[in-house]
Amino acid sequence: MSKNKNLLDIKNLTIHYGTDSGTVYAVDNLNLDIGYGETLGFVGETGAGKTTTALGIMQLIPNPPGKIIDGEIYFEGENLLNKTEKEMRDIRGSKISMIFQDPMTSLNPVMTVGDQIAEMIKLHDKVTNEEADKRAKEMLEVVGIRKERAKDYPHQFSGGMKQRVVIAIALACHPSLIIADEPTTALDVTIQAQVLELMKDLKVKYDTSMIMITHDLGIVAEICDNVAIMYAGSVIEYADVNSLYNNPLHPYTVGLFNSIPDLDSEQEELQVIKGHTPDPTNLPSGCPFHPRCPQAMDKCSKEKPNRIEVEPGHFVNCFLHEKTNKL
Ligand code: SF4
Repeated sequence: MSKNKNLLDIKNLTIHYGTDSGTVYAVDNLNLDIGYGETLGFVGETGAGKTTTALGIMQLIPNPPGKIIDGEIYFEGENLLNKTEKEMRDIRGSKISMIFQDPMTSLNPVMTVGDQIAEMIKLHDKVTNEEADKRAKEMLEVVGIRKERAKDYPHQFSGGMKQRVVIAIALACHPSLIIADEPTTALDVTIQAQVLELMKDLKVKYDTSMIMITHDLGIVAEICDNVAIMYAGSVIEYADVNSLYNNPLHPYTVGLFNSIPDLDSEQEELQVIKGHTPDPTNLPSGCPFHPRCPQAMDKCSKEKPNRIEVEPGHFVNCFLHEKTNKL
């Protein structure tokens, strides 16, 4: 986890929102890094702080009510939190791109898809209109859409095809990092698989790093190298995909795996994690998972567990694993 080998290095990131019901502790002292060419799965329930973290990286937290209270976000060795808005505008789209869940939030309904890709290219690269149009058509073909369709509008495409257009825009300037926020959730299952396959292929083709925000551990197994499990604004377990799937350590992670339907199992009822995600304006004391944890001990409601490296590269924030820390 040294800074030099990382494309992105987030340190102690804390983000709050001021609301009428009180302060929302959306991201709490979050530490995370991503290597060059790596795909990181960023997993957790709705409200865990995944999207807020992504918006923090992009410097797109609406302020007010949101505010980055503390932390550092190093991207290619430079702290994004020290960048001006103009510098961030240059970085967004050219070096870091974001793909949202609903393609219609990213596409302009009154502009042809070809023009939308060309616009992104012209925004960041000094090219003629002809060159931008040519590159836009090439990008359409890269995502599996015939170049003749460059003159069509978003409403003339299906949901899966629209998301392909969004991917073409995201990749148009060959960013080093793509943040994909539940990019297939709004799509039919068969289309989901095609879009995921496309993202996987393009990630390799362009040697791009990717943060895949999802609540779906199946997608993580399919596409990711490493996984960060997030709960109540913090990463509570981090490991490579194999370690996490073979040996989940945090009781919350174990609960997530137990709540996946297993068609081979004779057990009829799913084991859901009891209780609800905590109120972000009033997080529990100590370990934020303690009110739902089947293995909670006395000290869990009083002290917050530190991060422990249980085996090389496998980190967990849980008192149960304190004695197994072999490093
Ligand atoms: Fe459960 Fe305690 Fe571990 Fe938190 S620290 S996950 S409450 S055992």
